[in-house]
Amino acid sequence: MVKVLDIRKLEYFYYSQNSINTFIKCPLKFRLKYLENLSWKREGSIEENYYENIKQGLDFHLICERYFAGIPLGKLNDDLVKKVNSLKDTFKIDKRNRYLVEYEVKMTKEAVRLQAKYDLIIVTPDKKIEIWDWKTENRKLSIDEMKKRVQTLVYMYVLAENVENIFGFECKQEDITMNFWQPQYENNIITIEYSKNAHIENEKYLSKIIRNINSYDFYSANTKLYSSHCKFCEFNYLCNNQKIYGQ
Ligand code: SF4
Repeated sequence: MVKVLDIRKLEYFYYSQNSINTFIKCPLKFRLKYLENLSWKREGSIEENYYENIKQGLDFHLICERYFAGIPLGKLNDDLVKKVNSLKDTFKIDKRNRYLVEYEVKMTKEAVRLQAKYDLIIVTPDKKIEIWDWKTENRKLSIDEMKKRVQTLVYMYVLAENVENIFGFECKQEDITMNFWQPQYENNIITIEYSKNAHIENEKYLSKIIRNINSYDFYSANTKLYSSHCKFCEFNYLCNNQKIYGQ
């Protein structure tokens, strides 16, 4: 067996919403991606769209970063022009606010080692904190779906734990919101409120799952339990010699 670097034991390894999600979907996928550092490019025409969508999403994130940082946006293609108009209509820059763009936070609290990278954090003059995340999927997202996402839980938890370190003031969890915005659905802003109880529950959940990953035996995992995900997984060729769903 090839000896792999067990990143779980490294001090500089922090769990992210992506790695936790990967573990939930399939522990073997976590092993392949994070322990064996394997990447597998998707192939086929549908997958070309997948990569094109990712590229468009990255371009949009870059434009948002420039917009909130107050620097020129650069040359825009037709798709971006529409989205940028939508951005400018939805987010008027208010000089009284503080804007933190592409802001990364890392934290450690007992077993919980987490990192989160925020598209945008807005701090209002009355010390309310808004986390913003841009979603460029073509499908319209719903609040019920976003409430359940590991991303929501991780992003709110990490920020609530670090408000004083970052901003130099204390705030209640109730003063934090997580907001999702899809530029193609301009008026559909999804806002999720936070609370002390949600924070306690999130800590319990994250602590439990991180402890589970830390002690998990990845070489004895029963992957059949996770097979419903295989058809969407980039490792489907590797594990099952089958194409990804839709190809
Ligand atoms: S193809 Fe299936 S078993 Fe293999 S890593 Fe992906 S989800 Fe897990």
